[in-house]
Amino acid sequence: MKQVSGRRDFIKKATASAAAIGIVWSGLPAFASGTEQKHDQTYSLPGSVGFNQSPLPYAYDALEDVIDAKTMEIHYSKHAAGYAKNLNDAAKAEGVIMTNPLEDVLTNISRYSVKMRNNAGGHYNHELFWKMMRPKKDNNMPGGSLKANLETGFGSFEKFQEKFAEAGNTRFGSGWAWLYVDRNKRLKIGNTPNQDNPLMDVSDIKGTPILGIDVWEHAYYLKYQNRRADYIKNWWKLVNWDFVEQRYSGI
Ligand code: MN
Repeated sequence: MKQVSGRRDFIKKATASAAAIGIVWSGLPAFASGTEQKHDQTYSLPGSVGFNQSPLPYAYDALEDVIDAKTMEIHYSKHAAGYAKNLNDAAKAEGVIMTNPLEDVLTNISRYSVKMRNNAGGHYNHELFWKMMRPKKDNNMPGGSLKANLETGFGSFEKFQEKFAEAGNTRFGSGWAWLYVDRNKRLKIGNTPNQDNPLMDVSDIKGTPILGIDVWEHAYYLKYQNRRADYIKNWWKLVNWDFVEQRYSGI
């Protein structure tokens, strides 16, 4: 029951804070309704994310020759570190209790500032992204029920890869492509702009992300320049399917 009282505190503080900065609340908090169970499932997943950066699970040069060391260093220590810092600043300013799961903020992101949306999303997406990769493997494939359900849902593993790549290649400007699980537990592919993700209540696609690729130019430009499609094609060698399968089986 600890989480329930934590949520009540969160509601009180968030309400006070929202009133102070003039946000008008619409409707009941999502977790006061029947969505509470889904909510619990979301943040108990492997890879649930806090408010601070976790150590990178490998060296900057561990993903060579798919992603070069310089790109990894700048991406982790500058871009992602910046999202974490700005998230902490926004959380303090907007009365968010940072011992609560970050997913609480994301699923209710319409109630917060644009700064919170960009940086809570940016931090969450990158924390997952580092864990969704590992040093390259040829013939890198998922196993178990994930593989079977990708084949059933998309026709074959290759067709799934094509559709996912298309989601990344057709995202105009900056954003992410996702494999996510919707509320009916179906595997879906889509993309989001900027640092949005499918957990957000403002997102056109909604569900729990289990695999995502960063298609911002900062993720690939040093090595691939304008060739986003080549980056995505090579990136399959890095996917940490063990982690993706763990998230999938936790839903
Ligand atoms: Mn990035």
